[in-house]
Amino acid sequence: METAEIRRRFIAHFERNGHAVVPSASLLLDDPNLLFVNAGMVPFKPYFLGQETPQWSTATSVQKCVRTLDIEEVGKTTRHGTFFQMCGNFSFGDYFKEGAIRFAWELVTGSVEDGGYGFDPEKIWVTVLPSDTEAKELWHTVAGLPYERIQERGLKDNYWNMGVPGPGGPCSEIYIDRGPQYGPDGGPNADEDRFLEIWNLVFMQEELSAVRAKDDFDVAGPLPAKNIDTGMGLERVAYLLQGKENMYEIDEVFPVIERASELTGKRYGADEGDDVRFRVVADHIRSALMLINDGVTPGNEARGYVLRRLLRRAIRSMRLLGYDGKALPELLPVSKERMKASYPELEANFERITRVAYAEEDAFRKTLAAGTQIFDQAATETKDAGQTRLSGAKAFALHDTYGFPIDLTLEMASEAGLSVDEEGFRALMAEQRERAKADAKSKKGQHADTGVYRGILDEHGPTTWLAYETLETESK
Ligand code: ATP
Ligand code: MG
Ligand code: MG
Ligand code: MG
Repeated sequence: METAEIRRRFIAHFERNGHAVVPSASLLLDDPNLLFVNAGMVPFKPYFLGQETPQWSTATSVQKCVRTLDIEEVGKTTRHGTFFQMCGNFSFGDYFKEGAIRFAWELVTGSVEDGGYGFDPEKIWVTVLPSDTEAKELWHTVAGLPYERIQERGLKDNYWNMGVPGPGGPCSEIYIDRGPQYGPDGGPNADEDRFLEIWNLVFMQEELSAVRAKDDFDVAGPLPAKNIDTGMGLERVAYLLQGKENMYEIDEVFPVIERASELTGKRYGADEGDDVRFRVVADHIRSALMLINDGVTPGNEARGYVLRRLLRRAIRSMRLLGYDGKALPELLPVSKERMKASYPELEANFERITRVAYAEEDAFRKTLAAGTQIFDQAATETKDAGQTRLSGAKAFALHDTYGFPIDLTLEMASEAGLSVDEEGFRALMAEQRERAKADAKSKKGQHADTGVYRGILDEHGPTTWLAYETLETESK
């Protein structure tokens, strides 16, 4: 079943059941806590917080999402993309747990002929919060799930809140057993690769007066109107229904791997290290396509830096696979062709998208051309001196003079069998920042915000992703 068809069936199922169909919001919604929309509920936040009243009591959407937090997982797990699509159904004071469980169960196990996904009920497991005996009973009575396949999970995993006072409540997640060849028995609590999480149901039932962490909050009392927020991973369902091994092999993503394989002359499936690179390429190309489509341009701060890093990682991965030519003109059109069924505006925007992307590749190629020689020299000097660690001063010079971000230096050093004195590098960066700060004081008031981001960037390098994500409230 094609991804576009899985998405169509999701919408049709909930439309049939009276939900208003809401188009995906841009990835760039204005939200002080988020760089990008990272869950289907984000555009509905004002309704859940009671700041606005929706014009419908139930809604459904397929929301574009970007989760930078998951970048290190890409290609290594079967299920994490930096870009993915979250299918959701939402109830604003309308149906609650029973409705949410019934709707999800009907779609997941409904026969393919009748518009469902046709999963075998025997392969389905769910998790619930231990105190949520109501959900446990409903899974048993409404869906007919045996208690052995209803597992309990604590607050960290199965409680949802927005990180601020407001609504909160337990979640219940749906998992599909991919089979014994993928891991040990024992349900999702035993193995999350064999048991694949496809859908999270959030039951917003209480008002929180204080939230210190996901699992540390004060409950003020029950919510007057209880809400439902769910998220089903479109790519995860697609890879299962398409009989693939992971989300990078689905119809919307795999053609980029095929093209990359032609260009590099390397076969996908021959070597695990190469395969991870192929998957990183395909994932990052698609994310970059969708981000530029929504208006992001490469830069050194915040959103622009995320895009820059995605593009550069894709280009570097192609180089590591043995392709030195310009990669983006070969790969972006392939991704666009696959995504335009669901996002027809890509066609009209493609000229602009390619202009932005190709200019970034040209700039990066120049950086690499200038810096690679210097890097190689630094690496050789280090080795000649009998050392295995590139000095902080060298890493700093690469950054300062040749625009080499520290993550690139780290990657290249590791390929050359060297480590990097990151502490020394950071000390030099801090010194430079102090100088800049003193300088900025005399020009007070200008660009204060970007200065903060720059600071995070310089300081954390590759963990920048994390630094940003800690700003993000986990939305599910
Ligand atoms: P996981 O535990 O696998 O990281 P999650 O619990 O973080 O997933 P949720 O926040 O519950 O995911 O999001 C709802 C659904 O969105 C998930 O059940 C999954 O199907 C999908 N999803 C979440 N993150 C990703 C991702 N990085 N790539 C693809 N699909 C995702
Ligand atoms: Mg996750
Ligand atoms: Mg999870
Ligand atoms: Mg989840």
